[in-house]
Amino acid sequence: MPDIKPLPEAANFIEQIINEDIASGKLRPDQVQTRFPPEPNGYLHIGHAKSMFVNFGTALKYGGKCNLFFDDTNPSKEKTEFVDAIRADIHWLGYEWARECYASDFFDTIYEYALRLIREGKAFVCDLSAEEIKNTRGTLTEPGVESPYRNRSVEENLRLFCEMKEGKYKDGEKCLRAKIDMASPNLNMRDPVIYRILHASHHRTGDKWCIYPMYDYAHPICDYLQGVTHSLCTLEFEDHRPLYDWVGISLGFSPKPRQIEFARLNITNTVMSKRYLKKLVEEGDVHGWDDPRMPTLAGLRNRGIPAAAVRDFCSRIGVAKANSECEYSYFEACVREYLNANAERAMAVLDPVKVTLTDYEGEEELEFDVNPLDPAAGKRKVKFGKHLYIDGSDFSLDPPPKYFRLKKGGYVRLKNAYIIRCDEAVQDEEGNVKELLCSYVPESHSGSDTSGIKVKGVIQWVNADEAAEAELRQYESLLRDADYAGQDFTERMNRESEKIVAAKAEPYLAQAEDGKAFQLLRTGYYKKCCEDGKLVLSEIVSLKDNFNKK
Ligand code: ATP
Ligand code: MG
Repeated sequence: MPDIKPLPEAANFIEQIINEDIASGKLRPDQVQTRFPPEPNGYLHIGHAKSMFVNFGTALKYGGKCNLFFDDTNPSKEKTEFVDAIRADIHWLGYEWARECYASDFFDTIYEYALRLIREGKAFVCDLSAEEIKNTRGTLTEPGVESPYRNRSVEENLRLFCEMKEGKYKDGEKCLRAKIDMASPNLNMRDPVIYRILHASHHRTGDKWCIYPMYDYAHPICDYLQGVTHSLCTLEFEDHRPLYDWVGISLGFSPKPRQIEFARLNITNTVMSKRYLKKLVEEGDVHGWDDPRMPTLAGLRNRGIPAAAVRDFCSRIGVAKANSECEYSYFEACVREYLNANAERAMAVLDPVKVTLTDYEGEEELEFDVNPLDPAAGKRKVKFGKHLYIDGSDFSLDPPPKYFRLKKGGYVRLKNAYIIRCDEAVQDEEGNVKELLCSYVPESHSGSDTSGIKVKGVIQWVNADEAAEAELRQYESLLRDADYAGQDFTERMNRESEKIVAAKAEPYLAQAEDGKAFQLLRTGYYKKCCEDGKLVLSEIVSLKDNFNKK
């Protein structure tokens, strides 16, 4: 008896199709093969994370394979720098490819296949310019006009195509077109260009070629040569599927890869097009491709967003056939949820104000949960003392009603320590608060409070005797929100999206490993890093949950 495993339950329409293909005997589950096909003309962004989730995730689910396929048919924009960055980003996200290949690996075969199409009367060399081809293509309501070169003989086509390859013609002087149907209701089928002349050096093949295949023609061939069974792509390729199939059928591919389209990931206030991201980098609006405000994977990584949270987000938004837009706050909620469960807690204060406990002498060590949601993470000790810092926003000289933080004559609890009372605020000549003279309530120790004093406010603090200086970086979206929708992106640019504030932090943060994420109590989720010997705490995501509030 052969070992028949039950098929995995389909989580989306793509897996339903694959299950049907398996059930009909077209392939075994472990033969499922996909590919992730980036063009190396920029860095990957969060939209690509969805594509990877679909391509690598589907292959993993069936025990099949997913290749990394670099679509490098457009030599003028591609660079090795991007190839290396793409590889690093895929690994960061946690995926492994079965095989790495390039469209350019297959250029010889793609060329041979073009000769075959010519010999079978399915392709011809056309002398019309790109402009003329566009103008004779017709419209959705009118058929196109056949090229006067459409009926060249096979011999003439073969000779001209070879001459194109040998460099006899200038860019755009000739091209190779598939001979399909100028009256097709699908514009992509109206004798599409499949090879163009381009005297450009290629980042891998150098000057070997001066003709390059077009994406729509090269892609089905590369899929087939790699053994791809299901070619998963985004919705804008739906209209190109007839051409994808035409190439496969004309060249007799068996088994022919099957193209399936799914919806792109769109996120509010987030522009993902590489062209736009490149512009931000080139014009110096951001610090680079990995700026923490960028939606690139390098940016997310540098921001301190865990790869697991990105994968979780992709799995929750699901795979659908219809385009839609996801709220950016939903992505943040996924990140926050992950960090809440996994990040250590620590304390830092912004715009620090000095507090002196006039009646407290000595020193003690207080216990803090490393992460209260994860008892296994244990406890750690924090030194308490006479001289402390609190956050500038936790004291007010002129408090509004219902102000539960510190005010003159008022009480507040210091996190995991004592209740304190502010007796006096020492001000300089300009009225700035220089120091708060406070007294503490000895019997109010957290966990064994017998003071009977009820306080509503609990604030974080840092021991002044050992505090580390820190630079705190906070971020807002690069684009201002929906009120500005429809306006040009340059007008929507938020020029104050990066804010830098001075802070004091626990020495624990200074000693932590670089890149580690923390929940800074009452402040937000921050990544610790060290730049030129300076402690930098950079915001990953705020504490507040805007998504669930809606
Ligand atoms: P961009 O428009 O940002 O340059 P692209 O589609 O040109 O993106 P490619 O490098 O060609 O980028 O993309 C590799 C794969 O990732 C393609 O299969 C593409 O469909 C997919 N992809 C790109 N953007 C998204 C997105 N926002 N959501 C889902 N998949 C995407
Ligand atoms: Mg592209």
